Amino acid sequence: MAVRRIVYCGDARLRRKAQRVREISDDLHELLDEMRETMLEADGLGLAGAQVGECLAVVVVRADSEGTEVIDLINPRIVEQEGEQDGHEGCLSLPTLRGMVLRPSRVVVEAFDREGEEIEVEGEGLMARCLAHELDHLQGRLFIDAVDPESLAWLRPDRREDSGYRVEPTTLAEAQEAFDRLRSGREE
Ligand code: ZN
Repeated sequence: MAVRRIVYCGDARLRRKAQRVREISDDLHELLDEMRETMLEADGLGLAGAQVGECLAVVVVRADSEGTEVIDLINPRIVEQEGEQDGHEGCLSLPTLRGMVLRPSRVVVEAFDREGEEIEVEGEGLMARCLAHELDHLQGRLFIDAVDPESLAWLRPDRREDSGYRVEPTTLAEAQEAFDRLRSGREE
C-alpha cells in the first residue's frame, strides 16, 4: 500500500465529474486503502478520488476529527440537508489556503461501503461541512468556487503565534498563481 501524490489545484483532473463505480473489486479496495493512508498522512479530514488523480465517485472521510477511524463512501449522494453554517474551510489540493464557505448544518449521505452494502451517514457541524466539501469534489467543484473572496488567506507557519501560524490575506488570482507554481515545480 502506498501513500499517493495529492493532485493540486489547477490540475484538470480536479474539474472532471467523477464516474460512478460499477463494480467492487480488489483494485477499488486498494484505491480506498491508499486514499485512507494519504488522507491520514496529510492530516486531512476527507479525500475524494480526484485528489489522487482517480476520476471515480469515491470518498474517504474521518469518522471524527481526532481519531483514525475512516468511512469509505462509494457513489455517495446527499439525500437530505438542512440549515446553514458559515465557517473556515481548507483542502489538501489547495494546501495552506483557507476561506469562509457557507454549508448546510446537517446532511444525510447515502452510499455503498467497500462490501457493496448500502449505508447512510449523517453529519452535523464539521462533519456536515466535510461531507458537503468532499461530495462537491465528485462534481468537479472546489471550495474556492463558493468561498467568500474577502476571507481567502494563507496560513503561514509561524512559531511566534499561539496558533502556530499567521493568517495572510490573499486573492483568488494570487492563490491560483501560487498553485500553478507549486505544480510546475513538481514536474521538474
Ligand atoms: Zn478538498
